[in-house]
Amino acid sequence: MTTNLKKFDVLVIGGGHAGCEAALVASRMGAETLMITLSFETIGQMSCNPAVGGIGKGHLVKEIDALGGEMGKVADATGIQFRVLNASRGAATRGTRCQSDYLAYKNVMKQIVLNQPGLQVIEGLVEELIFESDKILGIRTENEDYFGKSVIVTTGTFLNGQIHRGNEKIDAGRVSEPSAKRLSLCLSNNFFRLGRMKTGTPARLDKRTIDWDKLDVQLGDQSPKKFSFWESEILLPQVPCHIAYTNSSTHKIINDNLQKSALYGGEINGIGPRYCPSIEDKIVKFADKKRHQIFLEPMGYSEENIMIYPNGLSTSLPIEIQYNFLRTIEGLEKVDIIEPGYAIEYDMFDPMQLKSSLELKKISNLFFAGQINGTTGYEEAAAQGLIAGINAVLKTRNEQPLVLNRDQAYIGVMIDDLITKGVMEPYRMFTSRAEHRLFLREDNADFRLTKIGWELGIISKENFQNFQKKQIAISSLLKKTKIEKINPT
Ligand code: FAD
Repeated sequence: MTTNLKKFDVLVIGGGHAGCEAALVASRMGAETLMITLSFETIGQMSCNPAVGGIGKGHLVKEIDALGGEMGKVADATGIQFRVLNASRGAATRGTRCQSDYLAYKNVMKQIVLNQPGLQVIEGLVEELIFESDKILGIRTENEDYFGKSVIVTTGTFLNGQIHRGNEKIDAGRVSEPSAKRLSLCLSNNFFRLGRMKTGTPARLDKRTIDWDKLDVQLGDQSPKKFSFWESEILLPQVPCHIAYTNSSTHKIINDNLQKSALYGGEINGIGPRYCPSIEDKIVKFADKKRHQIFLEPMGYSEENIMIYPNGLSTSLPIEIQYNFLRTIEGLEKVDIIEPGYAIEYDMFDPMQLKSSLELKKISNLFFAGQINGTTGYEEAAAQGLIAGINAVLKTRNEQPLVLNRDQAYIGVMIDDLITKGVMEPYRMFTSRAEHRLFLREDNADFRLTKIGWELGIISKENFQNFQKKQIAISSLLKKTKIEKINPT
């Protein structure tokens, strides 16, 4: 074991959506930051659905962007189908969503992270946290100790992660990636409260084996709207999604094999996301439904990227049953699977142990963010990462933490829900969670948050000046509407 003598300001464990925002914002605020993650290759990886935003989640992306975070810009640069959901409803309920080229997304995010001044990134598996009474000192990997003034844990589904498919069980944090067992043990040995949750993902399909002519087409918006308030562009070609449907034969195969599903055969005890149910779940709970809609979403725009994500078909059935039920679906009669679906069970950290800054109540300078706090989704993770990153830096300077209120931001609603109510199931954002939702619109996120980002030193001078010009333009237009009268004739 060697000891790295350099003392960093902020150590970030994990390079997922929470870890990237945390490490980027900490270094942009001037903190010497070290990110330790399992592999450079998986920085910013989309573990499941290749999409960003949606109802409630789009609000989070806009808020992250308005504060100076990265997710919105990367989504703009790598989106291959943009749609505003609820477009026909009131402005407050609209949610921007994009399908992403999943390889491009992680590559762009990885380049931003690896080229960020003040941020060092290394590969490694963190096994322990190093404490001195009620303060965090650093972290321990298999062969080295690292010390930092603040530490942020963003390990997603990796703590004691176990993949299930049929009765096959593999210790893993995601497919082909190790499970972080020792870190989980270290947390429970130190009397932190952990829970167990689960989630699942569908098979990835080979687009060359799908009969596209039999499927309905779903196009993106004709004039796509980007996420970011700042300079960013929709760069990639826009592609269609397709819609398929399950039928009685699909349902029969799944019903006949329920005992082989890890989710139904009693192999998994963790609590799963009610709003992203597996196909087994949907067929059992909505037995009267004759069919379920499946969105066939391309995972990239180029010819070489042959993977299709069948949104709505998450499963933990054995591979041969996955083949059998998929091939009953019109258009998928000859489909090939590139990566079979699976369920994953993992340890999560009870977020009621956290303050509203995402710092632990009983250990100072230790922060938790992302899926580990019992949430689900890239946007929820990124938003927590950003706040944890900001507060980890403020803590090193003995400054007051940034706490967003429930009437100020969806981010504030989410963190307040997590730390005051805890989680009974994976937490995802919905507009219905925000009691001030008529005021917390996507389009006014900059009005609510950009000044804060500027004062924290995250928003550039140029962006802040552009924002101020927008403020002036809007308020002069509003004044004008009060003075000027237009006769309908
Ligand atoms: P992750 O993206 O998981 O990133 C964790 C990071 O920590 C990784 O970079 C990893 O390398 C690193 N790491 C972990 N342990 C260590 C360690 N000990 N030392 C060093 N580095 C470490 N979300 C949805 O919204 N809907 C879904 O349907 C859905 N399905 C999912 C299905 C599966 C199978 C999985 C795995 C996830 C699914 N998700 C889903 C969740 C979504 O992927 C997460 O919400 C999101 O990725 C969480 O981001 P994060 O940054 O918290 O963690």
